[in-house]
Amino acid sequence: MKPLLLFVLSMVTFARDAAAEDAECVRERGAMIETIRAYAQSDARALGPQGLSERVLEAMKQTKRHLFIAERSCSIAYVDGPVPIGLGQTISQPYIVALMTQLAAVAPDHVVLEVGTGSGYQAAILAQLARKVCTIEIIPQLAEGAAKTLKKLAYDNVSVRLGDGYDGWPECSPFDAIVVTAALGEVPPPLIEQLRVGGRLVMPVGAGYSTQQLTVVEKIAPGKTATRAVALVRFVPFTRSND
Ligand code: SAH
Repeated sequence: MKPLLLFVLSMVTFARDAAAEDAECVRERGAMIETIRAYAQSDARALGPQGLSERVLEAMKQTKRHLFIAERSCSIAYVDGPVPIGLGQTISQPYIVALMTQLAAVAPDHVVLEVGTGSGYQAAILAQLARKVCTIEIIPQLAEGAAKTLKKLAYDNVSVRLGDGYDGWPECSPFDAIVVTAALGEVPPPLIEQLRVGGRLVMPVGAGYSTQQLTVVEKIAPGKTATRAVALVRFVPFTRSND
């Protein structure tokens, strides 16, 4: 082949690859991972000496956050902050998603409960780290939308249920980890009951829309827990079915 033609062809391939990368938000997701790493390095208080695991970072890197929001825009989806998902709800800032996932200490054979499915993004991250994820959402349109997105993206080990997550999901329990992504003044007792001994629950404790304590509750024996507050966060409120 003539050198000029070869050059033109390789430029076309290069442009096509670059366009494919643009559509997949590869650059933006890479930048998001670097920002998460930087936050993690300066947050030993919340994360402890081991920091953020490569497993959690890899799950964040593999998950296309832009496919969980209506606009599907790279510039909106990967900003370093919460992203609106409609009906007054948001996906948390990427670092907070990573931090909660790390604190939940999810292993490959685990069954995990999420309360507050929202867009399905956090459930998708958990699905890559656990055997099974059961997630509950109280707003019908969000539960339906998240179930559709997760199915389309082939996260086959996630079950979405419409309901009030205060009562947990007994049929799916016991859970090795529970992640609650809406704020409430107290940890719902049914969630602690459905947590396996040795398991952890991660949840923002405090009033919605104000500052809450991101709290880790570890079930150390039947009827016995150890609780610690790790960071200040700001989450939307945990609502009840009769609110
Ligand atoms: N984890 C989500 C974001 C959650 S925003 C994501 O990755 O996109 C918090 C969500 O909790 C909202 O969708 C809200 O409707 C839901 N929620 C609030 N109270 C709830 C309750 N009692 N049971 C289940 N979901 C609840």
